[in-house]
Amino acid sequence: MENILVIGASGQIGTDLVPALAEIYGEDHVYSCDIKKPDHMRHQMFIQLDVTHKNALFDVIRQYKITQVYHLAALLSATGEKDPLHAWDLNMRSLLNVLELGKEKLIKKIYWPSSIAVFGRDTPKRLTPQFTVMNPTTVYGISKVAGERWCAYYHENYGIDVRSLRYPGLIGYKSMPGGGTTDYAVEIYHKALETGKYECFLDKNTYLPMMYMPDAIRATIQLMEADRSKFRVKSSYNVAGISFSPEELASFIKRHIPEFTISYKPDFRQGIADTWPQSLDDSYAHEDWGWKNQYTLSTMT
Ligand code: NAD
Repeated sequence: MENILVIGASGQIGTDLVPALAEIYGEDHVYSCDIKKPDHMRHQMFIQLDVTHKNALFDVIRQYKITQVYHLAALLSATGEKDPLHAWDLNMRSLLNVLELGKEKLIKKIYWPSSIAVFGRDTPKRLTPQFTVMNPTTVYGISKVAGERWCAYYHENYGIDVRSLRYPGLIGYKSMPGGGTTDYAVEIYHKALETGKYECFLDKNTYLPMMYMPDAIRATIQLMEADRSKFRVKSSYNVAGISFSPEELASFIKRHIPEFTISYKPDFRQGIADTWPQSLDDSYAHEDWGWKNQYTLSTMT
């Protein structure tokens, strides 16, 4: 019997992931925790917890006999640049606390997301390979590269089953994003419906890899249920969804709302986006555990 704890459950991904896990494992076997309470208390098994407090985390794991952890708590790319030392502290300390749970044999399996932010200016931009130059420029990207290496280290040295995806920018309608560079692709839909116009903080030709949330949730659960003996990637898998620019996204919204208008006022997030890939090569994920993206820009819109 699996008992699952989702850490950072009140955020953008947790809002979609918790119900998807509850559907599979049963409401009584999925626990949510976060430093802040969720906007809608849809899930009874919520525990308020700061994941950087190791003893409190270990107590929860023992009390609820948790066997798997999905660790989503982090400071994201744009917010991280406003307070780099806090971003580093939260992102690294929380991951190491969770990895220590595995080392102490308190849990069997860990999921931890990495990001396309691991890549940098020296990385090939199109069809970015699984194994390539990284050199990220943001504190968020640095913490994700370090996190990938720590996951591989704990797997190799302590035999911990920790699995990871390099998510592209995720787009969902159930919650607002938490301060990333791809947030425009969520905000634009809300503004299109509310006001019929949107001022974009990225330039119109900025191509970035993105993914619709249902595909991201499916990829996450598929990875966690896959046969690990077939994994060739010990750190974090590239997973590709859809690549598009703000101008292209706006043109798809106009098919539904013809009077919709977009204007462009790039801010500091443009500098981050310029260092990231435009599209990803996810052939390792295809071959090792059967990943395939389903949604297109048209079906998502
Ligand atoms: P989010 O910011 O929406 O949610 C993060 C949650 O963590 C928040 O609810 C926050 O309250 C919680 N949290 C912060 N500090 C905490 C602490 N000390 N203890 C407990 N909880 C704490 O982020 P998200 O978009 O859901 O992302 C989840 C993970 O996926 C992160 O690791 C992020 O780097 C990664 N990721 C997300 C995207 C994306 O587009 N959303 C893309 C790539 C990677």
